Amino acid sequence: MLHCELEKHKDNLEQKVKEQTRDLQDMVERLQCNEEELSVQNEELRVKKEELIVQNEELEDLNLKLIEANRHKNFFLSTMSHELRTPLNAILGFSQSLSMQYFGMLNEKQIEYVNLINSSGSHLLDLINDILDIAKIDAGTVILNIESFCIHEIIEVVNSMIKTQYIAKNITCEYVIDSNISIIKADIRRFKQILINLLSNAHKYSLPNTTIKIEVSKVADNVIKISIIDSGIGIKKEDLKNMFLEFYQTDHTRDQALGGTGIGLALTKRLVLLHHGEIGVESELNKGSTFWFTLPIVDSSG
Ligand code: ADP
Repeated sequence: MLHCELEKHKDNLEQKVKEQTRDLQDMVERLQCNEEELSVQNEELRVKKEELIVQNEELEDLNLKLIEANRHKNFFLSTMSHELRTPLNAILGFSQSLSMQYFGMLNEKQIEYVNLINSSGSHLLDLINDILDIAKIDAGTVILNIESFCIHEIIEVVNSMIKTQYIAKNITCEYVIDSNISIIKADIRRFKQILINLLSNAHKYSLPNTTIKIEVSKVADNVIKISIIDSGIGIKKEDLKNMFLEFYQTDHTRDQALGGTGIGLALTKRLVLLHHGEIGVESELNKGSTFWFTLPIVDSSG
């Protein structure tokens, strides 16, 4: 009996040893398989790393070429703009003298054509000046001349200047200026340029007999925000992200007919960024637009 049980126990044990040996063999096989997979994956990783290194080098190369191309573009633009401005100034000067009839009387047709030469010339000169400004800013050669000035005065001056160009539209301008803000610091010429661009767009795209609001408020201790709010034609949602791109116009035919070039906002953005400010737009089609910018350099009188 005892012998029989011992035999049975031995059989059991042998069976278990067999099973465990099989399991062990399975594990070893799996490990071998994993090892092979790992080495394949390792090889793939090595190839990918090499490809990345090559792509990185190509990217750096491309970047250098882009910087060089940009330098050439800016040099070309600033040289061309200078070359174009000289003869253009002569055209403008002589056409102005002619229209003033210094050299003899002109008939109606001649006056009309001379005035056309003059207004087209001034338009072209504005465009050249804007392109030259953009090229100079991109080339990093513009140095701001920061001065203290009274913001109320500058807004008044700019607004009355723009208003005279749009007198027929009978647009009212309303100011809401935080009473704590009086003297601010910025480059006056550039500050005026920013205001002129935004305010003339607001006039251009406003309907007759409406109101434009200029709001100046403090958004932080040393930051002011200037908003130009119109109730004009507004801008479609999908156009908003492109508003500050060069030559972007929401309706090319209409905007060109209104004398636009699509460069004003691109230049305005650069001028604001030069002052370490921010610029943005909110708008609703057929309701109106708010173009705003911030200026971090504030010296309030209070
Ligand atoms: P321009 O006015 O010379 O065409 P801008 O760069 O100043 O160029 O403006 C680009 C475009 O943005 C305009 O052509 C117009 O389509 C749109 N835009 C600018 N300001 C306004 C505004 N206040 N309301 C509606 N559309 C505007």
